[in-house]
Amino acid sequence: MNIGSLDPLSLAIYVFPLALILLLYIYRMTRQQRENILLKSKIIQSGLTEPPSLHPLIDPLKCTGCGACIAACPEQPGHKVLGLIHSKAELISPTECIGHGACFIACPHDALQLVFGTKKRGVDIPHLKPNFETNVGGIFIAGELGGMGLIRNAIEQGRQSVESICTDMSKQHNNELDLLIVGAGPAGFTASLAAMEKGLRFATIEQEVLGGTVAHYPRGKMVMTQPAILPMVGEFPFKNTTKEKLLTFWQQAEKDTGVCINYNERMESMTVIEQGFEVQTSKNTYRTHSVLLAIGRRGTPRTLDVPGENLPKVTYSLEDPVQHQNHRVLVVGGGDSALEAACAIAGVDGTEVTISYRSAAFTRAKPKNRQAVEDAVSTGRLKVMLESNVRAISEEAVELEQHDRHFKLPNDAVIISAGGILPTAFLRSIGIDVETKFGIA
Ligand SMILES: Cc1cc2nc3c(=O)[nH]c(=O)nc-3n(C[C@H](O)[C@H](O)[C@H](O)COP(=O)(O)OP(=O)(O)OC[C@H]3O[C@@H](n4cnc5c(N)ncnc54)[C@H](O)[C@@H]3O)c2cc1C
Ligand code: SF4
Repeated sequence: MNIGSLDPLSLAIYVFPLALILLLYIYRMTRQQRENILLKSKIIQSGLTEPPSLHPLIDPLKCTGCGACIAACPEQPGHKVLGLIHSKAELISPTECIGHGACFIACPHDALQLVFGTKKRGVDIPHLKPNFETNVGGIFIAGELGGMGLIRNAIEQGRQSVESICTDMSKQHNNELDLLIVGAGPAGFTASLAAMEKGLRFATIEQEVLGGTVAHYPRGKMVMTQPAILPMVGEFPFKNTTKEKLLTFWQQAEKDTGVCINYNERMESMTVIEQGFEVQTSKNTYRTHSVLLAIGRRGTPRTLDVPGENLPKVTYSLEDPVQHQNHRVLVVGGGDSALEAACAIAGVDGTEVTISYRSAAFTRAKPKNRQAVEDAVSTGRLKVMLESNVRAISEEAVELEQHDRHFKLPNDAVIISAGGILPTAFLRSIGIDVETKFGIA
């Protein structure tokens, strides 16, 4: 059609509105992409550039910029994980990507691969057989430790791995346990229910609380997952839910089934014995035919090894700052988690917060968090004791040493945020093959 041949009325009715829509679309896309560039540069500046788990690697030559991957990502728009820049999809907030993989399925142009690690930072993935067994016969791995994140994957693998272990159980053994399950996150809890349903002689140990990583999500976090089947319970019905609803569901399932989980018990070492393994924990020694490691990838919090560290007021992460209202709190550590926890508590009414850090400056923390600490110190909401070490913790106080001087601070709660010991070294020490992946599938 020749636009010039159209009469003014047709032009007004058809062409101008279409042109207007097109202009609005171009304006919106340009504005969005400008915002994406800005956000990406802020994220690079704050050092949040390494995806923790499975994430998309996008081939710009194949990407047409259709945006199907962005629309499919369940974390958006709460977190801008993916976005278009110069009409190509990019991973804008790598640390917000938790490996749903929906982008991979959605891309109609085969422009995406899902990979572990980046060129800069490798991710350690143990070798597993299809039945979840490692190269060390009798040791199985389920859940995020095996590489696949997400709650539903962990639930599925927890159930399937116990089915494999049952097949393996045909061999005779004279150990007290058929199976020791380590971890009570989504994978370990499901495995415990499956072991109960199968009538195995088993024990489950958990160094912290029920729910694993989910229990450490921020309060009220929206969780995207998929329905699944829980042994002994039936349907795990959730799609879009909250952290709190998930934890309540699991706690109810624990109560209804009577499944026994030994909390506050940490696996410390493991040795091969005849027909199985001897596992040393912080409380016990178990002799077992098989072991299921469902320990996730967060690792074990580093302890201070000082008297009083086992008091109930001592924790290794902050769940809810509000619970510390009117508390005198000591936060130990100088990384981002420590600084974020201290500032969050300092913002709650009636708190007195002190950070104790053994080094002379917070060099490991992001500028944003260092600034937040400086601001809180300048307004008197926070105290910082650099080059100090905790010597002892009691019900009502903490003892600190700084430059050969001793201090006793009145105290209601201690949060130790001194980093974690990742499970890779432990896996290697017991002979499990682990591959470090640098941006490969
Ligand atoms: C911020 C954030 C948001 C997320 N959002 C979602 C989401 O919306 N949807 C989704 O599907 N997934 C989400 N995930 C991912 C999901 O939480 C994990 O993939 C899932 O929890 C893995 O389950 P798991 O049982 O394998 O491990 P974990 O949940 O990590 O549980 C492992 C358990 O083992 C215990 N353990 C570890 N070492 C020892 C030891 N030595 N002795 C005894 N116990 C030990 C730990 O204390 C822990 O309880 C998110 C993750 C994060 C970090
Ligand atoms: S779906 Fe594929 S082609 Fe479309 S923007 Fe995403 S990566 Fe590019």
